[in-house]
Amino acid sequence: MVEPIRLLAKRLLAGPDLEPVLDAAILVEGSKIVALGPRAKLGEPADCVSIDLGSATLMAGMIDAHMHTFGVSSTGLHALPFEREPVRALTAAAELRELLHAGFTSARCLGSSVGPDLKRAIAAGFIEGPRLLAAGRFLSSTSGTWDAMPVPLAEAAASGEIADGPDGFRTAVRQRVRDGADFIKLGLSKGPGGDRYHSWGDDPARQATTMTVEEVRAAVDEAHRNGIKVSAHAIGDAAVNLALDGGVDVVEHGYGIAEETRRRLIDTATIVVTTISQLHFHRAAYDAFHYPAWERAVYERHWMAMKRDFERGLAAGVRFALGTDLIGRPTHPLKEAAMEFIFATEWGMSTRAALQAGTARGAEVLGLEATTGIMAEGMTADVIGLDGDPTADIAAVRRVSFVMKAGAVVRNSLPASGSMPQH
Ligand SMILES: [Zn+2]
Repeated sequence: MVEPIRLLAKRLLAGPDLEPVLDAAILVEGSKIVALGPRAKLGEPADCVSIDLGSATLMAGMIDAHMHTFGVSSTGLHALPFEREPVRALTAAAELRELLHAGFTSARCLGSSVGPDLKRAIAAGFIEGPRLLAAGRFLSSTSGTWDAMPVPLAEAAASGEIADGPDGFRTAVRQRVRDGADFIKLGLSKGPGGDRYHSWGDDPARQATTMTVEEVRAAVDEAHRNGIKVSAHAIGDAAVNLALDGGVDVVEHGYGIAEETRRRLIDTATIVVTTISQLHFHRAAYDAFHYPAWERAVYERHWMAMKRDFERGLAAGVRFALGTDLIGRPTHPLKEAAMEFIFATEWGMSTRAALQAGTARGAEVLGLEATTGIMAEGMTADVIGLDGDPTADIAAVRRVSFVMKAGAVVRNSLPASGSMPQH
């Protein structure tokens, strides 16, 4: 029997409301939190190992509800259909380890053929990474979100990423289930003919939908019968309404929408995953990576539309979860995922709401709300230690010094004495 671990720290953010507990302790047995609260109340059980994290704040491990394990250069995504999968998986594995060490104990890969295999390798303990849920390959119609020239049609069809008609989508969903997918990722929008940026489209206000409602319903029905949920890439008003009409569980991006559509999202309690980082890191890379003027103009239009609908959604009560849509090095390193918390607060979310959106709300997206995302008795011991109090200074989410995943310490960069420098 493994000895219980007692974590000690200056502060703990406990329960769904992130209630601050000072001079806190958490008792971990095996993979679970068995007790938590003020240190004086908890006492010191016999035979436990104490880890004193000094002035750190303890909170639930962060969750990236939308990322990718592409394992190709982010500046060369055209290589995705052709690059060998073993090297892609190994490359993505290195970045997944960094994501875990940055404090993310769970993540959802929303599109990559190697995602389900990485998930298995992590779950089996062969490689280090966040608890991964994976959608496997993207799924879109012929000429749909991820089916763009110049890939020859025969190659695109052979990739398994293309389906047409309700029966075609049922077959494709069954293939994903066979691959070990935990989620289905449907593409519902793209740029209309003539746009230079196919999958996101040149303008969020001028998007084409890529599936019929019958196709979406068939995919959703097949996924639900297999006990898995469906996420939709949906930009623009028609696509978000199509997602809702089709019974999709989670909306990705979800901007460029009308007020009535926002109302529908709220009335159905549908979660929208933010993905601010995707655009931020493109914008940050414009000069260093020589983005052409037309592509910069596209990202600027998306940035403004995303910001506008994030702000309106916040005011109206849309349920946001934090997802980065990070795609890997060199422009979009997975280890920068905590930046999403900072961007959300820069756009008006309170620090507390951002912390909840990146933990408990993320767990809800992943279907893991019964086991992670909240610091409470009986939950899986996914615990991180931060230098500072993130409810007062959100940037503290980037200063992770301790990571525990399911009761196992995967990172402790504090001095051996366990005390953190005061400042
Ligand atoms: Zn994505």
